[in-house]
Amino acid sequence: MIKYNLICKCGKTFESWFSSSDSYDTLWKKKLINCIYCNSTSVKKSVMAPNLFSKTNKISKNTKLKKKMKKQLLNLRKYIEKNCKNVGDNFSHEVRSIHYDKKTSKGIYGTATPEETTELIEEGIDVTTIPWVNKSEN
Ligand SMILES: [Zn+2]
Repeated sequence: MIKYNLICKCGKTFESWFSSSDSYDTLWKKKLINCIYCNSTSVKKSVMAPNLFSKTNKISKNTKLKKKMKKQLLNLRKYIEKNCKNVGDNFSHEVRSIHYDKKTSKGIYGTATPEETTELIEEGIDVTTIPWVNKSEN
């Protein structure tokens, strides 16, 4: 479906849906497009760029995007699990000891409350919160 903004010689504009740009052309040539205000057939497209509308495409695109994002997040999770040490609830404690001792360069991951995270960032510690996707869920 294509939505066109139509403008009439009476100065009014209105929107109308057509199954395709060809169908608009056909109807227009046969003078079958009438102004909804004055019934005149002296109407034309006021905007050249049509708005494409397809509900199904929109949905499948979103699902695709979600799947792609999830895959990326899963890869990120796998990477973190492989390369970083899980410190669980001790995250803010561990991250501080690494930051101030500078003994280890190994990354860690774990959980922290939003307050703890804010504190760490205020202390100049480079922490990032990432969405932790569940592997089992589809
Ligand atoms: Zn009109």
